[in-house]
Amino acid sequence: MGLQSKTQELLELVHETQKHLKYLQELGVEGIQKHDDDIIPVIKQEQSRNSNRSLATGKQTLNRVRESGVDLLKKEETSNDGSTSLFGDLTPQPARLAPSTETFEEIRLEIGDCTRCPLHQGRTNVVHTEGNRKARLMFVGEAPGADEDDQARPFVGRAGQLLTNIIEAIGLKREEVLIGNVNRCRPPGNRPPTPEEASMCKPFLLREIAVVQPEVIVVMGNTAMRNLLDTKEGITKLRGHFQDYKGIKVMPTFHPAYLLRDPSKKRETWEDLKKVREYLDHSTNKQA
Ligand code: URA
Repeated sequence: MGLQSKTQELLELVHETQKHLKYLQELGVEGIQKHDDDIIPVIKQEQSRNSNRSLATGKQTLNRVRESGVDLLKKEETSNDGSTSLFGDLTPQPARLAPSTETFEEIRLEIGDCTRCPLHQGRTNVVHTEGNRKARLMFVGEAPGADEDDQARPFVGRAGQLLTNIIEAIGLKREEVLIGNVNRCRPPGNRPPTPEEASMCKPFLLREIAVVQPEVIVVMGNTAMRNLLDTKEGITKLRGHFQDYKGIKVMPTFHPAYLLRDPSKKRETWEDLKKVREYLDHSTNKQA
């Protein structure tokens, strides 16, 4: 690789690192400033030496930054007696979800040009679950908004951009996770789907969950949480505490659209997502 392209790649790494740091700061992660001060100069110093090691150092640095949230978590979650309380709030596990031999394609075919509930009247597109069908982690929202209805993809508007940032903040790429909604058609005026509308659409989501069997599902907001967990509790009460869906860990947290309206809640969301990251790091089920 020529010096110029190495420098270019290094600059991109610096840029990506800065973006990541900024986002972690935005989420309210403490101790980020320290990295901001000492990491970037390390890269620049390496760059100015034209060292062959510089690119590797930059990549290691980026990884160090990506892991920083988890390091901070380890410090924060350790109680006074040195023990960790992270898994203390897990509920007992009932039998696992039965494996499914269906495919997403078969499920979509069955959904077809759906008219099962009144939401079909106002939709442009049915918005299906997307992402990695071998994902360890799934995110579930409420229903498509205008951008999603337009593009036939979940979480592609402003809330979707924030969700992508959240996924990246825990060291994953959007393509590595699975993203879906309780309802696949946009409700008029972005209102929450009614229980009847949700009950028509939810079975397809549950069948996809049975196909993928993710290790953790993050339910974002009341609609997703209540529908998956069959509870009437509110998100403020259950967020941050692992719940169970047929043997799958479920982490309730705030919906990204709510975070756009009240950015002060990003800090709590970050706390919830750090628990998810920690769980995945310690789980022995699958690697990656
Ligand atoms: N809000 C949701 O709940 N889902 C989307 O896909 C987009 C916004």
